[in-house]
Amino acid sequence: MNIKRDIAQGVGAASTWALQHVFGRPAANFPGKVGLYIDPQLIGDLASCIHEGSVAVVGTNGKTTVTNLLADAFEAAGKSVVCNRTGANLDSGVATALMHTHGADWGVFESDELWLAKITPQLKPDYVVLLNLFRDQLDRVGEIDHIQESIALALASSPQTTLLYNADDPLCQAVADRVDNQVVGFGIGEDLDLAQNTVADSGMCQHCDAMLDYQWRQYGQLGAYHCPSCGFTRAEPAFVAHNVRFAADSTAFDMAGREPGVSVMVPLAGAYMAYNALAVHAAACLCGLAPSAVEAAIEAFDPHNGRLQSYDIDGFRILLNLAKNPTGFNQNLRIIEQDKGPAAVAFFINDKEADGHDVSWLWDIDFQELAAVDGLAVYAGGIRSHDMQVRLKYAGIDAQLVEDAEDFLARARAAVPDGSYYLIANYTALPEVKGELDRMEHLPAAQPVTLQRPLQGESELLEGESLVIVHMYPELLNLYGDGGNVTVLAERARRRGIDVSVVRVEHGQDANLDEADIVFLGGGPDREQRLASQSLLDRADDLRAYVEDDGVLLAICGGYQILGREWLLGDEVMDGLGIIGITTGRAQGGSHNRLVGNIVLQSPLAQAPIVGYENHAGRTFLDAGCKSFGWVIGHHGHGNNDADRADGVLHRNVVGTYLHGPLLAKNPEVADHLIQCALNRRAAKLGKPAPSLPPLDDSAELAANAAMCHRLGVHS
Ligand code: GLN
Repeated sequence: MNIKRDIAQGVGAASTWALQHVFGRPAANFPGKVGLYIDPQLIGDLASCIHEGSVAVVGTNGKTTVTNLLADAFEAAGKSVVCNRTGANLDSGVATALMHTHGADWGVFESDELWLAKITPQLKPDYVVLLNLFRDQLDRVGEIDHIQESIALALASSPQTTLLYNADDPLCQAVADRVDNQVVGFGIGEDLDLAQNTVADSGMCQHCDAMLDYQWRQYGQLGAYHCPSCGFTRAEPAFVAHNVRFAADSTAFDMAGREPGVSVMVPLAGAYMAYNALAVHAAACLCGLAPSAVEAAIEAFDPHNGRLQSYDIDGFRILLNLAKNPTGFNQNLRIIEQDKGPAAVAFFINDKEADGHDVSWLWDIDFQELAAVDGLAVYAGGIRSHDMQVRLKYAGIDAQLVEDAEDFLARARAAVPDGSYYLIANYTALPEVKGELDRMEHLPAAQPVTLQRPLQGESELLEGESLVIVHMYPELLNLYGDGGNVTVLAERARRRGIDVSVVRVEHGQDANLDEADIVFLGGGPDREQRLASQSLLDRADDLRAYVEDDGVLLAICGGYQILGREWLLGDEVMDGLGIIGITTGRAQGGSHNRLVGNIVLQSPLAQAPIVGYENHAGRTFLDAGCKSFGWVIGHHGHGNNDADRADGVLHRNVVGTYLHGPLLAKNPEVADHLIQCALNRRAAKLGKPAPSLPPLDDSAELAANAAMCHRLGVHS
């Protein structure tokens, strides 16, 4: 008899009843939370009642779909299953699912990546399925290495667990390489020939400091890769998809790895569905399920959880989907782009705890692709609707703000009467949008919406000249939306009729700074930052000469640290470029001791408060006499270090700062300051008078700035 477990079960059952019957709320977490409080070993105790085995599913994208499909496949094979189907994926969600079931044949559990380390030692699953690792909620996890470490730790706590992993993902392969567990890979065995997105996670080797060579790249960092320097490589996967075919609303492929081969058809579109279906088939095979069970599950799959859920409201075709990080978002945009008819789309973005408070990642999404879609009306909603609107503005899309799903559908129906309507929502925005769609039967009539034309530039400030923006190492120094600063600079210059060319200098390429008007260095995870800084050291003299010649340089976070004398990576002191008088160290606790959160500054470069988001382990100290970029207002953020209440540096025409956001999106005065300095310098060289910038309509940017100031209680 296990008294603690029995008490925990009893209290859990009572709280489930109360939540459902008294408060009318689903009970996906709370009973487990209470249960674990009473019996911390509850997951282990209850898991021992599962008869045949269990599977834990982790990964940034696709967890809920894969978990549900696998659970359905077990049921189709006549097995009873315990599963946290709604995506409550912390230990409390797993415990709650277990408390609701008494001794199932199999357990299938979705787990949050960081919580796997808490769940695995007790659950001791037979299999962990690792789907992929993309940038997601960096304000919660810091940098992606931390997730890899945590998953490896989880696997070490359960040596008999087999890891089924996506071999196409170098970040997953690196986890498989470092654990002692048995590992089995799955992957796609051919080039899918997909258009590439601008920002992807690390194309850097996971073991040494070289860039990976790709034989082909599907999306994000997924593909067939190997390191030319140390030999790190995609291990030949055991389960391989071949002959992948995409149609507007289906995905099909043949799977090798079980005998005889399996032919797979999924009635859902999107390249990531190929990976999801492959993972389900591979996991099913390992668990001894026949392919027919998976086929039955896929055929009957009708997600009622807002993942690719379609609605038919008053004869209108409506598709709702979750997208919560750049890679998932870009895949969603592809689905909209494939729609050949008229269409409207609304993006609902929240920034609650489960979403991540930092929405800089919106700038890593290729929204500009939507600008090319004819007749597409675009809307922005959710808590961060203003940020979304600004982001879309700089992608050349004039988006209206919407209150909610109902408001969107009313406007969309008026603007695009015969269209398909898409609603894309991030994590906490999704349930509300879904709730509205579930409820909605009749749409109110709406007034047609007139789109504003983007501002046209009129001035020809420097005829025949173009402003050259050099983005150094965009594939290494481009953490969470920093590249958006380049977009903002270029777009604000173009709107004034100034010709702009953006030069991306990739690692290994040479930069010609003679022609540069603005140089940009973004932030980077430690590993990428090290590689970028080593290359920059080789051209330190050029960069120093450029700065001394009053060249404009914007450097964010990791890029800012590199400009100083030295910076610290773990315990290792790295040489900096020594261009400005700063030094960066780390606090006790190394890379896990981070300064993370919203930050508001008062800066000599702007009248309005400067808003942004910081996320860094480094602590920077300015030499005496160095000027900071701004002073922290109130208690909103840290900036350079834990004590000074100042952020960044100003040196000649250099702005260094810890602010992501990206910095310039909601702080147009700083953007214009940099453009103005660049124009002044260019004009002086040409012997012409310095032109002044005509004002732009910054209402969207200032509204986004004011919304954040208002939330933080700062007077703008
Ligand atoms: N890796 C560096 C740090 O943690 C820089 C991070 C960043 O650019 N966001 O301090």
